[in-house]
Amino acid sequence: MLIYGCDADMILTALNAEQLPPMDDSPFVRLNDLAYRARQEAIQKHRGVWGGIGATLRGLVDEWIASGYDGEIETPGKRHLSSSLQRRLNDYWAKHPASVTVMVKGDLSISLALWKSLTDTADFATEAALRLFTEFLGSELKNAIGKCVRDGCGVYFTRERMREIYKRGAFCAAHGPVARIEALRGDEDKELMRLACDAWLRWTASKHPIRELWVAGEVNGQRRGTQRRITRKWITVNQKKIEAQLTKEEA
Ligand SMILES: [Zn+2]
Repeated sequence: MLIYGCDADMILTALNAEQLPPMDDSPFVRLNDLAYRARQEAIQKHRGVWGGIGATLRGLVDEWIASGYDGEIETPGKRHLSSSLQRRLNDYWAKHPASVTVMVKGDLSISLALWKSLTDTADFATEAALRLFTEFLGSELKNAIGKCVRDGCGVYFTRERMREIYKRGAFCAAHGPVARIEALRGDEDKELMRLACDAWLRWTASKHPIRELWVAGEVNGQRRGTQRRITRKWITVNQKKIEAQLTKEEA
């Protein structure tokens, strides 16, 4: 079965671009100034329409992606449509059915594309976005799409190999490694803090007159191989945190 419209790459482009790439505006059209100006107007209009489609489509796709999140944890398999969005799509397709063509070899061709003039830009953008979103749901993007959760990024991408659960949400190729290092560092900080709290409690003046120095030594004694070692200064800097942690544990 063939579904005509835009392909997954084009949907991804529409999601990531504020506007789709401009139509051809090569210099030869300037030969005729009048034609050139008409062409420029058409290009501006085209950009405006695509910008509108992109914005509406992003809203729909964002809602879809968000349905798979529980706090920071993303489970793409849990994605679903809200009943209002499901109704909106079904109402739309009931009024504007897709066209089905039976090909000579018996293949079915279903066209989801919108054949309509661009004159009414607002309507056109909304309709085109609903149609593209339907196509999105029929494509592999439905499960494979991710949107980077890093502040200021938000890029959409496809996952090649899917995992069931993403504990820290979606990260694009640029931010994934950074997020992993930060998570490891976070785990390491927690471990150092745990060791420091433990040693802090075991210290007595008879063991060493300087508590921070002794605690740092105890922590480092528990570390293996290339694991990070700490200094007396680390204990001094984190003393308030250690004390707060211990008060919390007592309570
Ligand atoms: Zn990113």
